[in-house]
Amino acid sequence: MVDAPRDVLGPVAGEPAFDDHRPPRLDIVNDCVHCGFCLTTCPTYVLWGEEMDSPRGRIHLMKQGLDGEPMTDSMVRHVDACLGCMACVTACPSGVRYDSLIEDTRAQVERRHPRKGRDRALREAIFALFPYPRRLRLLRGPLRAYQVSGLQRLVARSGLLERLAPTLATLDSLAPRLRRVPRPPGRVPARGPRRAVVGMLTGCVQDAFFPDVNSATVRVLAAEGCDVVIPPGQGCCGALSVHNGREEQARGFARALIDRFERAGVEYVVVNAAGCGSSMKEYAELLRDDPYAERAAAFAAKVRDLSELLAALGPVARRHPLPLTVAYHDACHLAHAQGVRAQPRALLGGIPGLEVREIADPEICCGSAGVWNILNPGPAAELGDRKAGNVLATGASLLVTANPGCLMQVAAAVRRQGGAIALAHTAQVLDASIRGLPASALLTPAG
Ligand code: SF4
Ligand code: SF4
Repeated sequence: MVDAPRDVLGPVAGEPAFDDHRPPRLDIVNDCVHCGFCLTTCPTYVLWGEEMDSPRGRIHLMKQGLDGEPMTDSMVRHVDACLGCMACVTACPSGVRYDSLIEDTRAQVERRHPRKGRDRALREAIFALFPYPRRLRLLRGPLRAYQVSGLQRLVARSGLLERLAPTLATLDSLAPRLRRVPRPPGRVPARGPRRAVVGMLTGCVQDAFFPDVNSATVRVLAAEGCDVVIPPGQGCCGALSVHNGREEQARGFARALIDRFERAGVEYVVVNAAGCGSSMKEYAELLRDDPYAERAAAFAAKVRDLSELLAALGPVARRHPLPLTVAYHDACHLAHAQGVRAQPRALLGGIPGLEVREIADPEICCGSAGVWNILNPGPAAELGDRKAGNVLATGASLLVTANPGCLMQVAAAVRRQGGAIALAHTAQVLDASIRGLPASALLTPAG
């Protein structure tokens, strides 16, 4: 009899949790000195107060797995519950690389733990849709018709969707208001003397639901002296896949993206979505034992968040005043995973008339976390509500952040609270200032 592949059956009872393909690294696990400094920054610990839903608790579970304990449903539940926000990495005084631990653990879970029923079906549906920009774009037409026909308002008022299909209700509440925006051409020349040639990632959700952010990014880069190249046929960067343990899918996406951008021959690869940028900077790690390893390292070295590149180049385009009070929200994958905090604040602070206000508890995730809010709608809404409350308490008229997931999550929470605040990506604020638009151009409330 031929042995069935392990991927299908999962581990037999009593088999150790991890196989020897990239288990979580014992040396990193042992770096944890159990001090607990990370606990209060961990959103799941803040929500539930459970040790096993803290970074320290999850590391303890990984240690048990490395010691030969089997992968139990309970272990998987605590691993699944992690948002991957990396607030614990920032907080940890011992420099524990929790990012590496959770990524390796999640890949083991996906390969070795057979998911059941609704969970499995939901994950299959998510990963057959979200990492495919063309499929997402096909949703735009029906979604727009649903929004402008008034049907969306009717459904929301009836409360039916929440009772019958909570996941659909979550998706419905997250979907941004869609507008028609022409897509930027494949190459846009620098305005004035050229300072850099940059390739731009258009992304999946960003491209389908926030095309105006991509247009603003191109205009700002060109105004700051960059030739902007948008390689055609770009797919997903693999961020959603890698953050959810779908290692093979992520590696396939990464290789394809490297091929596309290498052909474009650019100096930098610019990203305006925090989650994508953090994954692309980790390509060397993802493809470390792959024929693409060297190319992945060279590619990763070129990746910059938009604010990082603009701050390094320094401004040349004139900023016109924007009399606005803005609350700046640190996207976890920008602040914790990439350490980019000062640059967006400096860029916003450089706009005459604009005041930047800080949000309380900035280290706590808004609950978006890729597709975590779709997989865990209840706790995600709780985190969203906390964030929305802190955002509204700043009294700012505009919330600025650098990740499409955060924009959707906070907008939905603000709407739930009956609040009113406009939302924008950093690129849109810079664009408005450079073009001399009035502040009112940015002030369409999310509510
Ligand atoms: S702060 Fe770091 S060392 Fe301390 S418990 Fe958390 S992960 Fe472990
Ligand atoms: S990544 Fe975020 S949710 Fe996960 S353990 Fe660290 S702080 Fe908690």
